[in-house]
Amino acid sequence: MEKDDAKYTRQREEMVRRQIEARGINDPKVLAAMRKVPRHLFVSEALIDQAYGDFPLPIGEQQTISQPYIVAEMTQSLQVNEDDRVLEIGTGSGYQAAILAEIVFRVYTVERINSLFIKTRKLFDRLRYHNIVTKYSDGTCGWKDESPFDAIIVTAGAPEIPTPLVAQLAVGGRMVIPVGNQYTQDLIKLYKDEQGIHTTSLGGCRFVKLMGEHGWK
Ligand code: SAH
Repeated sequence: MEKDDAKYTRQREEMVRRQIEARGINDPKVLAAMRKVPRHLFVSEALIDQAYGDFPLPIGEQQTISQPYIVAEMTQSLQVNEDDRVLEIGTGSGYQAAILAEIVFRVYTVERINSLFIKTRKLFDRLRYHNIVTKYSDGTCGWKDESPFDAIIVTAGAPEIPTPLVAQLAVGGRMVIPVGNQYTQDLIKLYKDEQGIHTTSLGGCRFVKLMGEHGWK
C-alpha cells in the first residue's frame, strides 16, 4: 500500500467507531476492511479532507461515492466469504470494490462511464488490488462469461431487479440492490435457493440511477 499517514488512519478509525460500529455493523471482516481501505485515495484531491465524513461525495460525471455506512451495510448483508466471487455493477470510485476485495477471492466490477472506468482501473493497479477484474459495459446485462456469482451488489438505483442478474446468481447466492424511483429506493436483499428467489427490504436509500438495457433508459 501507499503512504497512508497517521491523520487519515485516525480519521478512518473514528469513521468506523462512530458511523459503522455505533450503528450496529458487527461483522469482523467488514469492520477490518473498513479500517484498512484508504478511502481518501478514492476521492479527488479537493475533497480529500472530507473523505471520512458521514455522507456521499461527488466523484465526477454526476456520480457519487456512497456514504461509508451504506457501503458497510451493503457489504455485511451480502454475507461474503473468502472464497466467494462477487459481481459489482457500478464501479464508480472503486471504493466498494476495494472493500469487497479485502474480504473475497475475486471481485468483478462493471462501469458504463468510460472516464470513471479508466481512472479507477489505474487506481486499482496503483493500490495493487490484483483480485479486482474490471469491465467497461452495461452492467444491467451482468457478466455472463464469469457467472454464476456467489454474490451480486448493485450500487446504482434500479427501476426493477434486472433479470440477467438474477439468472447469473448462484444457487445459495445473495444480491443487494436499490430498487425504486429516481428520488428514493428500497435497499432489497435477494436470496436464491432451489425453490426460487426470496426478497427482503433493508430500508430506504438514495442512489444515482442505474442506466441501461435492464435499468433506466
Ligand atoms: N460503487 C461505487 C458507487 C458509484 S455511483 C463507489 O463505491 O464509488 C454508481 C455508479 O454506477 C456510477 O459510476 C455509474 O456510472 C454506474 N452505473 C450506472 N448504471 C450502470 C450500468 N448499467 N452499468 C455499469 N455501471 C453503471
